[in-house]
Amino acid sequence: LVEVHNVHKSFHGVEVLKGIDLTVQPGEVVALLGPSGSGKSTLLRTINHLETVDAGSVTVDGEFIGYELRHGKLHELREREILQRRTQVGIVFQNFHLFPHLTALENITEAPLALKRQGRGEARELAFGLLERVGLAEKADAYPRQLSGGQQQRVAIARALALQPKVLLFDEPTSALDPELVGEVLDVIRDLAKLGTTLVIVTHEIGFAREVADRVVFLDQGRIVEQGTPADVLTRPQHPRTREFLAKVL
Ligand code: ATP
Ligand code: MG
Repeated sequence: LVEVHNVHKSFHGVEVLKGIDLTVQPGEVVALLGPSGSGKSTLLRTINHLETVDAGSVTVDGEFIGYELRHGKLHELREREILQRRTQVGIVFQNFHLFPHLTALENITEAPLALKRQGRGEARELAFGLLERVGLAEKADAYPRQLSGGQQQRVAIARALALQPKVLLFDEPTSALDPELVGEVLDVIRDLAKLGTTLVIVTHEIGFAREVADRVVFLDQGRIVEQGTPADVLTRPQHPRTREFLAKVL
């Protein structure tokens, strides 16, 4: 479903992705682990074209999110088309990024109304259903500042789901939360995994990765150095960098 092929990315002459190849199958849950600065967020951001790539390509369901092929070359699309195609890839950030001036419900309906030509009634109905799914039906009219971090993150997940993406990306979705709020967000992600949603999750919650991931991918200094089942990578890591990392976080 997601095909990352030989992706390179530099910032100011420093290469942070050094030829990444990664395939994610429909329904697969991939946990992306690695030390700080290894390129995890950058890799996620190339998948929905929040970052351009310097070389290589990314497709979702066979489609380039930010590019089109013309005369054998990739050309960046116009903003409007990028926004349309990006609806196929949902992303949830560490710091929720909700619109502060919109209620929970409005946060969820905003993008579908703007991009999907949905009627207001239909969009609201869908949003209520999603709020119910994340256990926040009674918070529809609350503003982000009236919600706990865990609740805000669950609204952010509902918002990402509202566009019915083919794949959902999570960038350390629980790292900004107080410990007692982590569980409620992980529960929602666990449910998504059970429903067969395709997920790529950057996380430092090793126990959670072990439990929900079909595959663990370990990134170090812009390269995938090891990947495999959670049992293989987390219990019997082969690469010294993976061992070193796990020794620190476990
Ligand atoms: P963390 O675990 O701390 O979130 P990460 O694995 O997500 O780390 P990235 O955020 O992908 O790492 O960053 C990889 C490298 O690229 C870092 O050295 C970072 O400073 C650099 N970098 C990322 N985004 C930019 C940017 N927009 N401009 C310049 N440098 C950047
Ligand atoms: Mg990051």
